[in-house]
Order: sequence, then C-alpha cells, then structure tokens
Amino acid sequence: MPKPKAIVIGAGIAGIASAIRLAIKGFEVEIFESNAYAGGKLAEINLQGFRFDAGPSLFTMPQYVDELFKLANKNPKDYFEYEPLDEVCRYFYEDGLQLTANADINKFALEIERKTESSAKEVHQFLKKSETIYEVTNKVFLERSLHKIKSYLHWDTLKSVFRFGQIDAFRTQAKANQSFFKDKRIVQLFNRYATYNGSNPYQAPATLNVIPHFEYHFGAFLPKKGMYNIITSLQKLAEDLGVKFHFNAKVEEIIYKADGRKNKVEGIKFKSLVQEAEVVICNLDVWFTYKNLLPKFDAPQKLLTQERSSSALIFYLGIKGTYPELGLHNILFAEDYQAEFDAIWKDATIYHDPTIYINITSKHILNDAPDGCENWFVMINVPANNGQDWDELIQEAKKNIIKKINRILKKEITERIICEEILDPRSIESRTGSYQGSLYGNSSNNQFAAFLRHPNFSSKINGLYFCGGSVHPGGGIPLALLSAKIIGQDLVN
Ligand code: FAD
Repeated sequence: MPKPKAIVIGAGIAGIASAIRLAIKGFEVEIFESNAYAGGKLAEINLQGFRFDAGPSLFTMPQYVDELFKLANKNPKDYFEYEPLDEVCRYFYEDGLQLTANADINKFALEIERKTESSAKEVHQFLKKSETIYEVTNKVFLERSLHKIKSYLHWDTLKSVFRFGQIDAFRTQAKANQSFFKDKRIVQLFNRYATYNGSNPYQAPATLNVIPHFEYHFGAFLPKKGMYNIITSLQKLAEDLGVKFHFNAKVEEIIYKADGRKNKVEGIKFKSLVQEAEVVICNLDVWFTYKNLLPKFDAPQKLLTQERSSSALIFYLGIKGTYPELGLHNILFAEDYQAEFDAIWKDATIYHDPTIYINITSKHILNDAPDGCENWFVMINVPANNGQDWDELIQEAKKNIIKKINRILKKEITERIICEEILDPRSIESRTGSYQGSLYGNSSNNQFAAFLRHPNFSSKINGLYFCGGSVHPGGGIPLALLSAKIIGQDLVN
C-alpha cells in the first residue's frame, strides 16, 4: 500500500519536528521552505570570521530534542551534543550590583542573600511556587491540545483543572514578584522572564513565573556546535527518515474542498501547481497563514486582531579583545524597568535606557570568533513593527546601547567593533515570515492568552494542522517542539 502523503509548510524547528514525527508514523513527508535554508528564526550568521546564532540563544528542555532521535530509534549523541551550563546568566545593575546566577540554585540564592536585601528563603519560596505552576500547567497547557475533549478525559488533566487556582492567573507577574521579594532588583530579575515569550511583566499573569522552573530545575544548556546545530542535526535526522526538503519554495496557497459539513485539505499550491497531500501541517505564523495561504477562508477575527508579542533589535558585533567580566549570557538592566515596558507597550517605541542582553558563544565555542576576539550578540526588546521610523530609532538605540555598555563595563567598545550586522522587526518579518516581526506570535499580556492561541488543528478543514511558536502552546523552542508533539499524538496512520 502506498504511504499516505503529508506536506509541511515551513522548515522552522516545529515544522522539522512535525515532519520527523510523521515520517516515523509511516507518512511520506515533504517540507516546502521559502528560504534557502532550514530553521526560520533559529538561523545563523557568518561574518568576517565570526559565527553568530541569529535568533535563540538560550537552550532549555533539550529532552524534547532528544526525544525525536529516540522515537526514531537513533542515539541522540550520534547527531547532536550539548552541555549543561554551570552559570545561567550574569546580571549587571546601574548601581554597581553584579549577580552571577549559578545553575545550582542554592548557590545563587546564597549570593542573592549576601549581596541584596532579599533572602535565600525568598528565592526558594518563589521557585517552589514556580514548580507548582509547572505541575498544574504541564499536562493541561503544554503537552496536550487545549481544544480537544479527549485531553480532559485524562485523570492528570482533570486533577490540574481542579488545581487551576494555584496557577496565579489573577495578578500580574510584577505584583506577584513584589510579594515574593523584598529587594526590588530581585523583583526586576524575575520580572524579566515575561520577556521570554515577548510579554510585559506589568500586564502578564503571574502564571509566567513557571518559566524560571525550566531554567533552574531542568537547567540551561548550550549545544556544543552552537544553537544552529539543533536545526542541522534535526534536518539530518529528517533526511535519514526519508523526509524531502524543498528550499526556495514559497507555498502560495493551501488547497481544500468541501466535504459534507466540513472541508477536507487537498494539498498546497506551489509555482501555481497543486501538490496533493492527505495531511498539511503549516509551520508559518498563523496570521500569514490566514492572510496569504487561505485568502478565501473565513479567518478567526479574534485571533487576527490580538496584540502581538514584542520584537527585538539585535546587533551582531565582531569585537576585538576579550572581556572576562562577561559570560555566555549577560543582562545589563535598565534602571527603571517599568518605564522601559511602558515605552515598548504603551508608546510603541524604544526606551532610552533599555535592558541589554549580550550573548557571547565564543566564551565556550572557541571557533565562533577569531583569536583574541569575541562574537557579541547584543539584543534589546522593542515593540512589534507598526510602521515606526526604524532607521532613526536604531541609530538612537545604538548610541544609547554603546553608552550603557561603556558605563557598566567601564570600557570603551566603539573602537573595538570590527564588523556589524543588524536585525530589526522589519527584517525579522521578511526573513522568518513572522507578522510585525514579533518573536512569539501573540503576546501573553492577559490571563486568557493561553486559551486564545490558535489550536494545533483546523476545526473547519479536516487534515489541516498548525505548529510553531504562533499557535498552542506558545513560542520558544521547547513549546514549538511541543506543538509538533501534540500534532503527532493526533495523527495515527
Ligand atoms: P519559525 O522559526 O517561525 O519558521 C517558520 C518558517 O516558515 C520560516 O523558515 C519561514 O521562512 C517559513 N515560511 C514562511 N512562509 C512560508 C511559505 N509561504 N512557504 C514556505 N515556507 C514559509 N526561543 C528560545 O527558546 N530561546 C531563546 O533564547 C529565543 N530567543 C529568540 C531570539 C530571537 C531574536 C528570535 C527571533 C527568536 C527567539 N526565540 C527564542 C524564539 C524561537 O526562535 C521561536 O519560538 C522558534 O524558533 C519558532 O519556530 P517555529 O517552528 O515557529 O518556526
């Protein structure tokens, strides 16, 4: 019997993971990707002897990647290796405070107690709450479809529903963190986790306090060859399983026909020709899916009009010299955090004293920069693209960023920049197909956001599925991988 055919639109991480899961289930799978390379947001940039991971830099929950190799009866280590980080992040404050978040939470809690007004006990109580939120949300929100009745027939899902009150959904993250920590700099440190899915801690529910549990309980990791190696190794696995990749292949439309009361997917249109498939999995931003690939379809307006998550402005800098005061992940905090978020979310602009994230993979992967140099990925959070004058904003932001780095590190870096490339909300949209350059689809700035994300299947077109950071359960590598897992659970050949 011929194998049933599945087409995946987009070779982002969730698209490749879905393709792997379907190939394992016996489908013949083809991926159509509009770029010349796989990975979407998870890409890399090579510049004058420097290598940069273009998008994600923090790797958590590597077990979701390993799981794909194991499902295919392969040894993950034959494809992909990563190491746990002893140090999660270095934090720098304008008042001179510096904290190093050790992966061992006992050590980090003691450092917080030694250097700030907050106690180690506060940290442990906070992380206990974080664990509780994880226990309650994991099965309901993360590992199963929220939109299928059968999800609620599991005993562990029902138990979680009864414990819903424990997920801290009815106050903001910033309010909750103020109640946990005496020292406002530690409130700020834990408020930052809202930005992990492009949200605002002064609006988003405290349920987002689940995120530190990923980092401090399961750990932070670094792939030995850099973040982009997650993609190259998954692409290799997919190809070993027979998945066929088409690059420079922009899909024009999703084709379906009326079939009784529901529609049935028939395939896709590419270069004006129909490619037939029983199953179509769409990995691109769901906003563009409805606007471009299903133009005649009655799109869910509620979804299309929701607030988008924030975007980013990134400077990839080849830097002469080495900076022992910096680690792999570094945060230089804004003095007034709330003012920074007000600028992003209320005024849709860039704050004059932004929180700066500097990621330097050459600290661990020596080949990522020439001898005596470092590869700096310098990122700030910015609003999604609504037609702002980005060229002017970027010029101003660059001046402010360099001033702040010089001030905090007490060094002058301008003369040390050897080469530079910039990514902004406009180029994030054009390179990855993410509407308005948002990094994580819609924002999570209200307590219903988790329920308002698009399901992983179409309730109106049989055989059409959705994966990736813009649909359930959300953005970021771990959740994008879970979207593929949820689709895989549904598709039994
Ligand atoms: P995407 O990466 O969105 O890929 C979608 C693919 O679809 C693209 O390759 C695109 O070219 C393709 N496509 C679009 N239209 C078409 C079409 N018509 N036909 C064919 N193909 C099409 N996550 C973390 O976990 N940790 C981090 O530290 C982190 N930091 C980030 C920093 C930045 C700067 C960015 C941009 C993102 C970051 N993220 C991070 C988020 C993470 O990168 C994303 O959530 C994840 O990679 C999204 O994957 P995806 O499967 O949704 O696909």
